[in-house]
Amino acid sequence: MASKKVVRRTPRPADIETIRTLLRAGEVARALQSVGDRWSFLLMRDAFLGVRRFEDLRRRTGASRGTLTARLNSLVEQGLFYRSPYGNAPSRLEYRLTEKGLAFYPVALCMWMWENRWGGEFGLPPRLVHTRCGNTLNPRIACVHCDASIDRRDLSYRPGPGATHYGDQQSTTRRRESPAISRGDGIDTTMFHCVDTVGDRWTALLVGALFFGLNRYDDINASLGIATNILADRLRRLLAAGVIEQHLYQEHPPRYEYRLTKKGWGLFPFTVAMHEWGTQWIPAPHGPGLKLRHTPCNHRLHTKLVCGSCNQVIEAREVEIRGATRWPAGQRRGGQGKKPLVRRT
Ligand SMILES: [Zn+2]
Ligand SMILES: [Zn+2]
Repeated sequence: MASKKVVRRTPRPADIETIRTLLRAGEVARALQSVGDRWSFLLMRDAFLGVRRFEDLRRRTGASRGTLTARLNSLVEQGLFYRSPYGNAPSRLEYRLTEKGLAFYPVALCMWMWENRWGGEFGLPPRLVHTRCGNTLNPRIACVHCDASIDRRDLSYRPGPGATHYGDQQSTTRRRESPAISRGDGIDTTMFHCVDTVGDRWTALLVGALFFGLNRYDDINASLGIATNILADRLRRLLAAGVIEQHLYQEHPPRYEYRLTKKGWGLFPFTVAMHEWGTQWIPAPHGPGLKLRHTPCNHRLHTKLVCGSCNQVIEAREVEIRGATRWPAGQRRGGQGKKPLVRRT
């Protein structure tokens, strides 16, 4: 049977030290440095929905002009978007996905899957169809080598050569801190979305620590090395959003464990897709930081997103939107409400 190293064990201090390194030097962390704020994620998502023009992007995301300009410039710099003229006026530019940007599609689809199942966010198409087979799209992440669906219990990990060079990278590339998620810049923040988890550095690290099987406050704190008020705040948010739950493991004094709920584990495919994208498109100068192995076939983890019906690799151009996109009553398409949206049940 597969190794269960990743979950359900009491970590030793050395493990926590390793996890701490992996959280910072892993492929997901590198990918998040490239697109790791909520605006960039929203822009990538909208790009796959065919939104290309500045004003349309502004209306959909609710970002201010300044924020939007900065994020678009950054995505162009990172090589995910390129500018393309449209219309008659030469100054009119739209933003299109490069090959690197298109390769982000599995990540965007995993976001859509999670939102569709758990988030209930407006503005997303309710149903996607795989035109190649004509079925409703129900994607799954599969191993390139053995075609099996990726189950978290079937992965083992160890640090790669890039992990030991983490300190070098840190001194040269300053990590951009994402803005506090409570400051909405016009966007509705009363609901918790996929981008709130991954678009906030500390939240992403916290969920990562839970993926690695750290459940106790002290262990999580040691692996993240962040201020306790930030950690307490992020735990509170994740609890409120139903991404994690608390379990009392000691009564005197009361001590809690934090565990991912089904909704929390629902972020795992997304994270695997990020790992794959980071591995392929943002290679580390000293080699991979985190080496994941698919234990059933004993190959290094290399994944693809396939259609659950026909098992073919999903390409963006073979996916069609069906059904009306949900918008709150009385709101025009293109706007983002400032009022709390009704959570879909
Ligand atoms: Zn495999
Ligand atoms: Zn299909």
